[in-house]
Amino acid sequence: MKVAVIGAGILGASVAYRLAEGGARVTLVERGEPGGGASAASFAWVNANEKKPRAYFGLNYAGLREHYRLREEFGGAPWLHPGGNLVWSADARGLRERVERLRGWGYAAETVGEERARELEPEVRSPGVAAAYFPEEAWVDVPRLVRELVERARAAGAEVRTGSPVVGIEAEVSAVRLAGGERVAVDAVVNAAGPDADRVAGMAGSPLPLAPRRGLLVRLEVRGAPLRRVLHAPEVNLRPDGAGYLIAHHESVDRRLGGKDERRLAVELLERARGILPVPEARVSGVRVGTRPVPADGYPSVGAAPGIPGYYEAVTHSGVTLGPLLGRLLACEILGGEVHPLAAPYRPGRLREQRMTEHPIRNAKEGG
Ligand SMILES: Cc1cc2nc3c(=O)[nH]c(=O)nc-3n(C[C@H](O)[C@H](O)[C@H](O)COP(=O)(O)OP(=O)(O)OC[C@H]3O[C@@H](n4cnc5c(N)ncnc54)[C@H](O)[C@@H]3O)c2cc1C
Repeated sequence: MKVAVIGAGILGASVAYRLAEGGARVTLVERGEPGGGASAASFAWVNANEKKPRAYFGLNYAGLREHYRLREEFGGAPWLHPGGNLVWSADARGLRERVERLRGWGYAAETVGEERARELEPEVRSPGVAAAYFPEEAWVDVPRLVRELVERARAAGAEVRTGSPVVGIEAEVSAVRLAGGERVAVDAVVNAAGPDADRVAGMAGSPLPLAPRRGLLVRLEVRGAPLRRVLHAPEVNLRPDGAGYLIAHHESVDRRLGGKDERRLAVELLERARGILPVPEARVSGVRVGTRPVPADGYPSVGAAPGIPGYYEAVTHSGVTLGPLLGRLLACEILGGEVHPLAAPYRPGRLREQRMTEHPIRNAKEGG
């Protein structure tokens, strides 16, 4: 079976690797460089923390566990940074209820007092009234994971075409056309084009409604290692990003992203970080705006789309958490026709059936 995977972000790289490993003849087609899209501008927190309802929580928890499974399978995962997530909140009751709900669903979650919070993060000045710890959660160096998956796909026989935008999909999915006129004959195509997945879906004649949301990621240069793990505070979310760096992000800042004010908002995030960590020397070393690929009802679009044999989608927010899992499940569907129960609620068909005018984004929380 010949399959073109369009897009080499975390979703495309994962599914290409699993397809190639499963015996398909894969062409992974990327218009730029692998991992340069939304996957390069992610807070990259791997979690099932605020995912609702229960079925979506189950998918994300399986997605979180898949990262540890991959580590076993590969005999190591230098891109995976376990250590959990410390949350400081201004809403003690809300945080307690969240912990209780998650524990009831079998998730590792505990409320912690100030002393334990200080043990976990000695440098953090208590920025809220209550704290909780989620020990299984992690963050991921996404570019490094994407590189690994692309290399493994290549080693399993995949052809990787970079700098090659797909500009057309021929009827009944018989070929994809690349900018420059080349035609690659295929039996199936996977749309893993992230925030541009609606354009690629249009090429297949199956419009996909997206509700993309932009977000600001700020890289801070700091002295030493003032933070050990993912931290959520009322005004800023932070995580380490290799020695001497932190990533700062907050939804309240994303909501104010407009025209040319990115630098000012970056400095605001820097100030918020300085408010809870003793990092007076910290400075902004990088600013990135990314677009979250969010299907219009807020949930993933994974699997075969109805009416177009050979056309599949792998489009989702929380793609860092879900990428390795959805890549494996989608490869099973393409190669064996089997739809996994965890992915069954998120078929592309539902987005074509519903009227898209009244879709609230029900999982709009960061890490979504
Ligand atoms: C600010 C921010 C914070 C986030 N935080 C988290 C988080 O904490 N946890 C989490 O799990 N998720 C988070 N996400 C979401 C996550 O980053 C995305 O869901 C994920 O990266 C999507 O990966 P992807 O492979 O689908 O898309 P991308 O990484 O965008 O990859 C798609 C690729 O397709 C290519 N492409 C597009 N069109 C074509 C074409 N016509 N031909 C060839 N190639 C094409 C693009 O160049 C791109 O490389 C966040 C996102 C943002 C923006």
